[in-house]
Amino acid sequence: MLFDAGDAAADGAPGTHATAGVVPGVDARRWRLRCRGCGHVLAAPAWRVQIDGRERHERTNPLGLRFALRLYAAAPGCRGSGAPSAAHSWFPPCAWQVLVCGGCGEHRGWRFDGAATSGFVALIIEAIVEEAYE
Ligand SMILES: [Zn+2]
Repeated sequence: MLFDAGDAAADGAPGTHATAGVVPGVDARRWRLRCRGCGHVLAAPAWRVQIDGRERHERTNPLGLRFALRLYAAAPGCRGSGAPSAAHSWFPPCAWQVLVCGGCGEHRGWRFDGAATSGFVALIIEAIVEEAYE
């Protein structure tokens, strides 16, 4: 049931400053979010959440690499890589952890967790695909 959007809704809002959002016109039962590289199912589009009123954010890391990100309540098809860190966090005071695809192992985003939030994930838009299925 990891990819049943109803489960995500039952978990409630992911944090004090994150609000659950539903993509207008999208039937959550017939959409899924896949890794663009290998097709592994990572999450459901209906799990999008907002920070500061937006689900899409752009951030630049200390190396100067810029990422366009979309926020989700969870991405159970990803797995964490490395230890969480609060250094240079894009969403302070949340600590971040690299997320890689559970299928191909490629970097697909980050998980953010903090004392005031139950956490959310930021996935790299160009590394994911949202698709309908029958
Ligand atoms: Zn993959």
